[in-house]
Amino acid sequence: MARCIGSVCRLCRRENQKLFLKGDRCYTEKCGFERRGYPPGQHGQGRIKFSEYGLQLREKQKIKRIYGLLESQFRSLFERADRMKGITGSNLLSMLERRLDNVAYRSGFANSRTEARQLVRHGHFTVNGKKVNIPSYLIDKGDVLEVEEKSRGVTRIAGALESVKRREIPQWLELDSTALKVRVRDLPARDDVTAPMQERLVVELYSK
Ligand code: SF4
Repeated sequence: MARCIGSVCRLCRRENQKLFLKGDRCYTEKCGFERRGYPPGQHGQGRIKFSEYGLQLREKQKIKRIYGLLESQFRSLFERADRMKGITGSNLLSMLERRLDNVAYRSGFANSRTEARQLVRHGHFTVNGKKVNIPSYLIDKGDVLEVEEKSRGVTRIAGALESVKRREIPQWLELDSTALKVRVRDLPARDDVTAPMQERLVVELYSK
């Protein structure tokens, strides 16, 4: 599992963008980026000029950090996206969105992708009626993700569903918050990824 041992707010400050890694806190004035919206470190407030390679690297790091992946996981997903038909960058984003931990987060069952990953690992979800505890599992069109029968009382899930109003459930997911299940209407397309990402830079970086 991809872990950041230090403060995750530093990652947002490094990428100069809110990455929403801390759940509820990200929407409050306690957000580290809101308070100090400049890169961390001694020279953080100085002028930083990136080379072309630097820009590509930062974009790759940003996307990787948003989804909480390790370099090897991210790279192998990219290689898979590259082998698929269509635009590599869009394929990559679509596969990142289809990860089970991301779907659980986007459906509102968790406050952050990190929390969603932990809930998946602990076996709180089923896909099409079967328990799945692999965060990297890729969901498909028509799949139904459900909170496991025994996990319906888990306060973290109920709490996340309460605060999900702050976020928008994407169009490609159909949430039934009473039955605690979500149906995948369609596979996510590029336009469904609303966070600012320039996947083209990642493709350029890995194509060197
Ligand atoms: Fe990023 Fe703000 Fe959330 Fe910290 S609280 S992870 S800085 S969005």
